Amino acid sequence: AKRLGRSRLCFFDPQLESRALARRNLELDLRRALGLRQFSLLYQPQKSISGNRISGFEALIRWDHPSRGRVSPVDFISLAEEIGEIHPIGEWVLKTACRQATTWDSQLSVAVNISPVQFENDDIVNVVAKALETSGLAPERLELEITESTLLGDSDEVMRRLWGIKAMGVSIAMDDFGTGYASLSYLNSFPFSKLKIDRTFLQQAEHSPRSKALMKAILSMGESLGMATVAEGVETLDQYEELSRGGCTTAQGYYIARPMAPEAIEEYLRSSRPT
Ligand code: C2E
Ligand code: CA
Ligand code: CA
Ligand code: CA
Repeated sequence: AKRLGRSRLCFFDPQLESRALARRNLELDLRRALGLRQFSLLYQPQKSISGNRISGFEALIRWDHPSRGRVSPVDFISLAEEIGEIHPIGEWVLKTACRQATTWDSQLSVAVNISPVQFENDDIVNVVAKALETSGLAPERLELEITESTLLGDSDEVMRRLWGIKAMGVSIAMDDFGTGYASLSYLNSFPFSKLKIDRTFLQQAEHSPRSKALMKAILSMGESLGMATVAEGVETLDQYEELSRGGCTTAQGYYIARPMAPEAIEEYLRSSRPT
């Protein structure tokens, strides 16, 4: 145990200390995870509603920790952001997703989540360029998903980086649309190709007429602005049909399919093809 002075002793909180220790251990493990090849990507299909076909997949990272088992990105991405590990991890995600997507049918796109912290660094433009170059993936098949909080930082710099990436032919989607604190005016400054409507809207729409109205308004705004609209977290046929009636272009969620390993994609596409 630590020797502390009498005055500080009364502030000693073993629970707090063990929590700090646990975090420190997780941090050390996270720093080594990439070198130990503990990360992998799962892919969740996105279905074009009008085309009635799979249009692409979103890459979702998984961390297989030797003793904790599979750690959710919800539990390590923010830590990775705090300690700067998000840069090498994010680069690995981009490279891996681009490489794996080259093995798919050339009609299929791949969407990659980019943390706001990655956009704080000017290097992000080069990282994207390098991932495309080393994989040989056509830039048109890559889509980056950013969140509103990305736009809250130094927005001039961020905009410059977004335009730089767009200039390569890569498209940018606004993820978790409607949950952040950015003003809608960013829709004037950048041509996002897609709005991904957060799962919470869809969940609430079932019980709340106001949420349903809001959902419809977002869908028609997307349509008037020429942006595709993706509903995430579609879990039921009812939700799917409601979205279809509302003019939503794309659906993603357990109703279509759960995130799957890259090895499962080929068979999934074969069995889900309309007959
Ligand atoms: P997100 O980008 O909003 O991803 C959607 C999350 O919803 C995924 O969770 C997905 O598995 C889950 N999901 C999909 N369909 C359904 C459904 O029908 N119902 C429910 N309840 N959930 C559904 P996941 O894979 O745990 O990822 C959580 C978050 O972690 C992601 O949210 C994203 O913000 C972040 N993340 C994942 N992979 C990466 C990555 O490679 N880089 C970065 N920076 N963040 C990532
Ligand atoms: Ca996403
Ligand atoms: Ca999302
Ligand atoms: Ca979300």
